[in-house]
Order: sequence, then structure tokens, then C-alpha cells
Amino acid sequence: MPWTRRSFLKRTPALSAATSSLAASLPAAKVVDGTAKPALLGGSKVRSEAFPSWPISGELEERALQETLRSGKWYRGTGQQTKKFEEAFRQLTGARHCLATANGTSALYVSLNGMGIEPGDEVIVPPYTFIATINVVLRQYALPVFVDTDVNTFQIDANKVEAAIGPLTKAILPVHLGGSACDLDSILSVGRKHGISVLEDACQAHLAEWRGRKVGTYGTAGCFSFQASKNLNSGEGGAILTNDEQLHERCYTFHNNGSGLKAPGGNFAYSGTGDNRRMVEMEAALLLAQMTRLEEQSRCRTRNAVYLTSLLKEIPGIIPAQMYEGCTRNAYHLYMFRYRKDGFAGLPRATFLKALAAEGIPASRGYRPLNREPFLKMAVESRAYRKLFPENILREWEEHNECPANNQLCEEAVWFTQNMFLGTKSDMDQIADAIQKIQKHAGELMKQAI
Ligand SMILES: *Cc1c(COP(=O)(O)O)cnc(C)c1O
Repeated sequence: MPWTRRSFLKRTPALSAATSSLAASLPAAKVVDGTAKPALLGGSKVRSEAFPSWPISGELEERALQETLRSGKWYRGTGQQTKKFEEAFRQLTGARHCLATANGTSALYVSLNGMGIEPGDEVIVPPYTFIATINVVLRQYALPVFVDTDVNTFQIDANKVEAAIGPLTKAILPVHLGGSACDLDSILSVGRKHGISVLEDACQAHLAEWRGRKVGTYGTAGCFSFQASKNLNSGEGGAILTNDEQLHERCYTFHNNGSGLKAPGGNFAYSGTGDNRRMVEMEAALLLAQMTRLEEQSRCRTRNAVYLTSLLKEIPGIIPAQMYEGCTRNAYHLYMFRYRKDGFAGLPRATFLKALAAEGIPASRGYRPLNREPFLKMAVESRAYRKLFPENILREWEEHNECPANNQLCEEAVWFTQNMFLGTKSDMDQIADAIQKIQKHAGELMKQAI
């Protein structure tokens, strides 16, 4: 898209007053397109102010924390905050039951235990996710079986799930990565067909929807994280949603040292083994306050992200992540796109990221291929796994542990974080301007051999 004088001025609010008044005094035809030098080559940066900081809090949070502190009821056994939060989050999502946990990793771990996933079972997972999705399967001494990624959406390739199912498969653990939804229709139908439960990792997908209903409410259970970076945040925290009352009770029991909600006999009566994965009352109080901001923040992210996509899709070599047709709401925890260096004169992604940072736009390269992590091979070759799994299963696991599409995605991915979408439309213009500037000067950036 050629830079007309009008669009140049309109879309470059970071211009200094001197430059813009100079530009304004020149006749339109004299302004030459794309002359602004990339900051990495000594030009001035597109943006000098920081993006909106995260988290956002105010008096509401201060009051909530102070009240909980002063109440002296800091634990869910004596206080009401965790219960209140569970009810509020349950209503917000439309689930029948909600259990708050210490964090998202705990939510997943407690769910696997509640669902009866045992050592020696297999769980189908994506390789493109935060490490916790895989770690919880390993903590359970189950075998994570990787299904390749759909590079268009960054989500697990639902068309490849069925082929990964074997006699030991007990669960599918798809992730709603970045806040977009994985292809739930296909995954749920494969699960139903084979009698295998689906555990949704919705740790990045607060308020995201599939066909008008909140993600995390479709599977046997759905897990959320309230860790500091997440769209709903209390520093640490997590939750499990389920429509299955008995599963809710089993999860409660497991997360509460084996002591269930409905266990007869009260204290020191146990209905199973367990762990302590409880939420703290201060976290719940903070979440209740943060929840009052969630809807508006989420709408703001969507507005900005949709606008940014309309700008970025015009730039050669930039391919924004697509959404499945069933994804009716994206939480935009991450704004993800593919960077194809052939659209940028062969400029490596690492240099592109450096050039972008120099323009004042922070971006990340994202995940590395988890299925190729050396620690994974070590875990699977450990004594425990060799005792639990037949030799041929472990050998075949190694042979099939290839995700070529994911390898490609891990080479091309670029992310922006959710807080960058809490500002204005002109912030988006600046992101697009910076990328466009780098694209126009990619050849020079290549030659400078940075
Ligand atoms: C954040 C996250 C988790 C883990 O949540 P914690 O609260 O950090 O334990 C799990 N899965 C995904 C996809 C995540 O993004």
C-alpha cells in the first residue's frame, strides 16, 4: 500500500512537532514514500512511549485486599472469598461447577486426577503450548502424545487427532492457544466416538467462545489460569470448570488433601488421596475486583486486534493467525502472526524482532518445539516410564514424535502480548507502521549484517 501524505501523517502520530509541521508545510507531492529510516539503521523510532502496563488496579482492589486482610480469614476453610469467586466465575462462563485452585498448572493436574488419568495412560497434547500442559501429563506418569499444529491457526491440528489414538489413550488435552479456540467440534466428536474425555486447557482463553458459548465448558472439564500475565490475574491462581457434579467433587477432594465437600465426618475424614492445591482468600478477593474490568478490557483488545489484522494482512510476509469458523470470540491473550522472511528480502526473524524492538514495538518469537525438548526424552526413558509402558510403545512414541508443521511455525511465529491491545487505535497504526517501515527497508537491513 503506497504511503500517501495523508495516511503518512495520520498513521504516524509519533512524529516530532518539528517534523510534522515541516511535512505539513510541504506540498503533498513532495513527500516521498518510505523515506523514514528504520531505527535499527539510525532513523527515529516509530514509538517512544510504553504500551499500557499490566496489571491494572485501583481502589477497588485495594479495598478488597484490605478487607480480606483485616477479616483474618485468609483461607477458604474460614472465609467466603473463594466461594464467591467460584460462583461468579461459574456464572460468567455458564458452567455448572467451578473449583478455584492455586494456579493453572494445579487446575490441570487436579483435573487429570479427578478424571482418573493414571500412570501408564496416554494423553494427546499439542506441541505448541506453555510447558505446563505437558508437565502435568508427565507428573501423572502418563505419556504425552503430540499431534502436530495447524500453522494457519496456531492450534492443535484437529484432523490429526484421531490417528494418534491408541489402546492406552485416556484423554485429549487441547489448548485454546493465545485466547483463540481450537477446533472443538472435531475434537469433541473424535473424543465421543472413541469414549475418550477431553480436558480443555483454556488458561489463555478467558471469555473466549466457541459457537457463542464460553470455551472451557465443552469438555469433560476446562482449566483456567490467573497467573500474572493472563487476561484475568491475581498473580497466581486457577480454576476448573465442569458440568459433571461427581467430577467436581473428585477434583475438590483431590485439591483438598483428600477431604471432599461431601465427605461425612467433617475434618480429618478422607474420601481419597490428594494434594493441597487450594486458592488463597486474597487471590479470590483480587479476582472478584479484577473481574469487574474483564469484559471491557476484553472488548478493547478485540477492537484493536481486529483493526491491527486489517492493517497487517496487507503487508507482504505477514500472516496473522486465523480463527476457526466456530470461534465466535477470541480472548486475544496473544496476538500471533507468521513472519515469512521471503516477504522481507530474506531478513531473519531474529533481525526483524530486533528492528521492531528498535522502533519501540516489543515482540516475542514465542514457543520452541516442546516435543523436541531433551528433558522430554529423558523423562520417557526414565525408570518409571520403562516400568509403566511396554517397550514397543515407548519405541513407537519416539519414532512418531515428529511435528513438522509445528517446527515450521516455531521458526515463523511472532507474538504481541495482550496489554499492547489495551490502548488506542493509533497504537495499532504505529505497530503496522513499524512493520511496514522494516519491510520497505528489509534489503538494507540485510546488507548491514546485524
Ligand atoms: C499459563 C498457562 C498454564 C499454567 O498456568 P499457571 O497458572 O501459570 O500454572 C497452562 N497452560 C497454558 C496454555 C498456559 O498459558
